[in-house]
Parts: sequence; C-alpha cells; structure tokens
Amino acid sequence: MSLIGTGSEPLRVAIIGAGPAGFYTAEHLFKQKELVVEVDMFDRLPTPFGLVRAGVAPDHQKIKSVTKIFDRIAAKPGFRFFGYVEIGKDLLIEDLREHYHQLVFTTGAQSDKNLNIPGIDLRGSHAATNFVAWYNGHPDYRDLKFDLSVERVAVIGVGNVAVDVARILCRTPEELRRTDIADHALAALSNSQVKEVYILGRRGPAQAKFTPLELKELGELEDADIIVRPEEAELDELSMATIANADRGTVRNTQLIHDFSTRSLSNKSRSLHLRFLVSPVELYGDVGGNVSGMRLVHNELYATDAGTLRPKATERFEELMVDLVFRSIGYRGVPIPGIPFNESWGVILNKEGRIIDPLTENPCLGEYTAGWIKRGPSGVIGTNKPDAVETVKHMLTDLQKGQILHPSASNGVAIEQLVRERQPNYFNYEDWTRLNEVEVNRGIAEGRPRVKITTIDEMLAVKRLAVVH
Ligand code: NAP
Repeated sequence: MSLIGTGSEPLRVAIIGAGPAGFYTAEHLFKQKELVVEVDMFDRLPTPFGLVRAGVAPDHQKIKSVTKIFDRIAAKPGFRFFGYVEIGKDLLIEDLREHYHQLVFTTGAQSDKNLNIPGIDLRGSHAATNFVAWYNGHPDYRDLKFDLSVERVAVIGVGNVAVDVARILCRTPEELRRTDIADHALAALSNSQVKEVYILGRRGPAQAKFTPLELKELGELEDADIIVRPEEAELDELSMATIANADRGTVRNTQLIHDFSTRSLSNKSRSLHLRFLVSPVELYGDVGGNVSGMRLVHNELYATDAGTLRPKATERFEELMVDLVFRSIGYRGVPIPGIPFNESWGVILNKEGRIIDPLTENPCLGEYTAGWIKRGPSGVIGTNKPDAVETVKHMLTDLQKGQILHPSASNGVAIEQLVRERQPNYFNYEDWTRLNEVEVNRGIAEGRPRVKITTIDEMLAVKRLAVVH
C-alpha cells in the first residue's frame, strides 16, 4: 500500500488544461475523503475555463454559470492554477514527471476536422472553430478577419457548433450587445451585410446532431426567419423505420423541423435556411480567389451493416451561391509531443483515461487523460464529469498499487520556483480573479455580462497593475 496521498506525503497531480474536464478531474480527486491531494492546473492561456470561455456562445450565458462550480473547486486547499504556462515550451513534460506523481492531460480538441473537397482552401472558406474562437475573444484568434460584407453564407454541418455560428450571424447588433461577445466581433457583426445563411446537413432531420433547445432557438430569432423545405423536413423510409425507437431529442428535433417547414415568412431582415441531405462537393472561386459558390450533391440514406444510416450521393446536383463558408464538421485534438496519439481518432491513445504506450500496449506509468482529448469532441460540458470520474477511478487504483511516478522533488515548492524562472508572468487564480473582476466591471458599465480582455498584453497589464497597487 502506498503512503503517497497522506498528510505527510500528499499525492501531487498536474492537470494540463484548465477546461471543464480539468476542473471535473480536480473535483473528483478532492472528493476522496481518505486522500490528501495537491492539484496544480496548468493552462497556456492566462485565463481558465477552456471552451466555456472560448467556445460557448456569448448569447448562452446560463451555460457559462458552470464557472461558479469551477471557482469552488479552485478554492479547495491544495489547488493551484498556473496560467500562461505552456507545457512543451515553458515547462517540459519531463519537468512535470520530476515534480508530480500523476499527470492528467485535459487539453481538449483545439483544431478542426478536414473537409477534402476542391476549393476548400479558397479565401472566405473558414473553420467554424476559428470563427467561434474569434467572436469569443480567444487571444490567438482575435486578429482573424472574416468578410461580413457579403450577403450569403453557408455553414456546413448540423451540430450545435453550426447552430451557434448561424445564430450569431443572424443576431441583431442589439441582441449581441447584451452578451459578452468580444468587442472586435461585436463591431464587425454590427456592420454585417449577411442576409441569407444556409446550414447544410449531409443526412436527414432524424440524424442531425444539434440538440432540441438549440434548434428551437433558431425559430425564435428577433430578426431572422427560419426556412425549411417541406420535402427535406419529411423523413425518408429508413428514418421513419428508426424513429419509433429513437431518443427523445431526435424525435423532438424532427417535430421542430417539421413545424419550421410549415411556417410562413414574417419578412424579417435575414433568412436562415436549414437544409438536409445535401453535401458540398466543390467550392467555386472568383478571379480573385474568393469563394463565390458551391456545388451540392443531393444524398439519400442507406443502412450500414451496423444499422447506421449513412449518406450516399445521388446524381442530383445543385449550385448554391455563397461568398463565405464555415466548415462546422467537428473539432479535432492536437497531439502533445511525447504523448502517444491516435491519429485517426484525433485523441490521446488511452484506455478509459489511462494513457497507453503504443509499443507495449501497457499503460504509461502515472499518465492519464480526460475530456475531449480522451474521447473525442462529443457531448455537452456535463459529459466531462462522468468522463473525469472514470479517469480518476483508474488513478486511484494505480495509486493503491503504488503504480505512480516517483518525482525527485519532495514537495510542491520546487515546481512553483521553476515556473517563476521559466515564466515569471504566470497567472495564479488570484490574478485570474482580478482579471475577471476588471472584465465584469467593464461589463456593468455597458449593461453586459462582461467586456472581455482579448490580448495577452492587456491581461499582463492588468496583472502588473494589481501588483503595483
Ligand atoms: P458534431 O455535433 O459532431 O456535429 C458535426 C456535424 O458535422 C454533423 O452534422 C456531421 O454530420 C457533420 N459532418 C461531419 N463530417 C462531415 C462532412 N464530411 N460533410 C458534411 N458534414 C459533415 O460537432 P460540433 O457541432 O462541432 O459539436 C461538438 C460537440 O460540442 C457536440 O457534442 C456538441 O453538442 C457540443 N456543443 C454543445 C453546445 C451546446 O450545448 N449548446 C454548443 C456547441 C457545441 P454526420 O452526423 O452525418 O457525421
């Protein structure tokens, strides 16, 4: 039995990535009554919360209230935050192995899936994930440019991110001004000339990935009409056969889509077209190399041996004139140098959260993962909780067996010293709390939830100012 995890020798855990999966992992560790644990959470940004800050749509403030739970976790004795510390640059994984008994990688999915069709790299074709990070004020994406002087836009994919992107494009400046959307995005979207937004699903209404609440919201926009073609709202025979056993969300989606298809237009300024059973097969460009349209093929569904309904191209084509395209076909994890990665799935190679050595197929001692970088980009924020619990269960089993790293450092002092040396500007949770207060106070002045600080320089300036005072 291991003595690590007792008052004299707390279990020291490094969590890399301060998003929901990281916080839920910390929470479950702190919940262990018999365990004395110290958790250091690292993030390459000065700000915590991952996609809750940089991904959740600005007009979905309720979802963001989950950060109150994260604040409570951060307040636990034994928790430290090291923001603006990049693992692989400021600290190496080797450094972490020298200071912790267990490492947990919760870095999420920071990239997007590829869509390999001709023209996909034309100017005006963007990953939706970049647009999301831009309007949410992620420092790495704030300087991107999206040409919103165009009138017609396509969003490829029918998941919740596609819905977020389409909704933000259709919101009025007044609606957006009530949110914490980044100022640069508020300014650009307030001048937007976009009139028609097309969301394109390659399968039918019963296979759409969005959730009913998010779908319903598309029918409630202040100044955009939702349009669904009646023939595309109708379920094909194969979908009809599965709907009796479908989950409630799917049934609700199909009902909502049917209702939308029966609506008459109310002459709003924008139109949001929700299309099904169509796939882009090529993007067209103008002489300047900008997107000017796309060729769509109409699909029909077929059942795989496993019973899944997949799209199959027919010989019916259609041209859709759009000048801006957002590819919203899913996020993808980015490999961490030195950590085994499953390229085809875009996740860290793992079994229920234990990182697996591809050569021996055995778990890598003391190394774990949770969240999207463990299971792929699926589920809502809360899905990361049971996911983290599963990982922690294995961490505790391995601790019991003494199967942990044996760091040379004997306590948590040395790593703090090392961080100070390598990244003197690192943010602790107090620094973040002050930054948060500045943002919220700026928001109060404007009647908004917060006004985000979106450059690292300004974040550092706020930290320096606090030190001076
Ligand atoms: P997603 O839910 O996996 O949806 C991806 C969409 O892209 C699907 O409609 C998929 O169609 C389509 N797609 C994939 N490959 C394609 C291709 N080659 N051509 C055309 N379409 C293609 O991913 P997401 O929207 O990025 O969302 C990621 C996760 O975050 C989801 O779990 C989502 O629910 C969650 N999220 C939640 C909220 C919220 O709760 N409000 C907001 C945003 C995101 P197929 O189904 O046919 O593959």
